[in-house]
Amino acid sequence: MKYINSLEFARDLDRDDTLNKFRRMFLFPKYKGRNVLYFCGNSLGLQPRTTARDIKTELDDWSRYASEAHFKGRNPWYSYHEKFAVPLAKLTGALPSEVIAMNQLTVNLHLMLISFYRPTKQRYKILCEATAFPSDLYALQTQIRMHGYDPAETLITIKPRKGEYLLRAEDITDAINKHGEFLALVLFGGINYLTGQLIDMKTIAREGHKAGAIVGFDLAHAMGNVELHLHDWNVDFAVWCSYKYLNSGPGGVAGAYIHLKHAKNTNLLRLGGWWGYDKKTRFLMRSEYQPMPTAEGWQVSNAPVLSMAAHKASLDVFMEAGGMAPLCRKSRTLTGYLEFLIGELNKMTGIRTRLEIITPPNNAERGCQLSVIAHGSGKKLYTKITREGVYCDWREPNVIRFAPAPLYNSYEDVWRLCQIIKNHI
Ligand SMILES: *Cc1c(COP(=O)(O)O)cnc(C)c1O
Repeated sequence: MKYINSLEFARDLDRDDTLNKFRRMFLFPKYKGRNVLYFCGNSLGLQPRTTARDIKTELDDWSRYASEAHFKGRNPWYSYHEKFAVPLAKLTGALPSEVIAMNQLTVNLHLMLISFYRPTKQRYKILCEATAFPSDLYALQTQIRMHGYDPAETLITIKPRKGEYLLRAEDITDAINKHGEFLALVLFGGINYLTGQLIDMKTIAREGHKAGAIVGFDLAHAMGNVELHLHDWNVDFAVWCSYKYLNSGPGGVAGAYIHLKHAKNTNLLRLGGWWGYDKKTRFLMRSEYQPMPTAEGWQVSNAPVLSMAAHKASLDVFMEAGGMAPLCRKSRTLTGYLEFLIGELNKMTGIRTRLEIITPPNNAERGCQLSVIAHGSGKKLYTKITREGVYCDWREPNVIRFAPAPLYNSYEDVWRLCQIIKNHI
């Protein structure tokens, strides 16, 4: 698209945007009486207007029916989590029996590692990215220790080349081939939280499998942000959280995907609990553990219904918007507009700060987030714009992250953001 740097042009794009009406379904914090410029959906998505109503439905049923609400409630609690199978399958490109809403992200990662990191004397190493989110590294290190191995020798981390910010696809493939015979597991973030780089999950799954390893992904920054085809890509397992792009509230219920070829294997090792037990006979309270032959078989505890009500409110909005395909179409032009406007800022004369976008310029290698290094200004620029009603975030050592979310950000938001930045460079 040919972009123009003007408020009129931004407003024209908003007028033509069929998703623009979804913006009114979200609650924005206010700054000087108007909506803040919110670009933190990669950290905590905004609250849908329907969230309070959907939580109140469950509170009312709790007061009206108490324990009976498990079966008599408007949304029976006994099967509440089943509501998520279809929407989560759509968002991840999986079968409904391959996905489950449960727990928190890092907890789910541990549960998946229990089943899918089964080191042997020959095959015990794990390949991941050096700039993985710290929680993922801690999970991997502690799981490695649990099996009696030394993380320093077992965890292989790959870094961008010297002087670069992004991982090159061929470096990932080379690392898989180089360590292949020792690799038990390949685990990457689908989108790197710091750089916003979307990696080629399909190729990594194929190469990892060729080497004989299991391949899993952390989709914290990919879920609700980019199109996923986990089943067709033959990914073994994946985990995500719901409070980022999925707008399901702080600490919201997370999720996991397990490819059906593994999910149907009820002999696969796991940490058991009663909610993973075969639903038909769960209440016979037998002592011998019989998990379900689907992703539900990884559930441990009964479902956190109040947090799930917020998840429901948000996934309803995603489904109403038509899922990821229309959202990604808008996302590409919205983030493209931000990229264009940052380029315009760099062309101004007399500026002291140069803005470098480290996120890939190619749509196939990114979601909505742009990570920017403000050369000559560093954290000062971040601090100044946040004082003027901009919500974005700072990640050590030097990155400002902007995530225009197609569900609730407008082209005018992006244009206004760049007007504010302009005054401080
Ligand atoms: C946000 C994020 C987490 C957070 O983990 P929780 O268990 O939800 O606290 C973990 N990993 C990645 C890659 C993240 O981006």
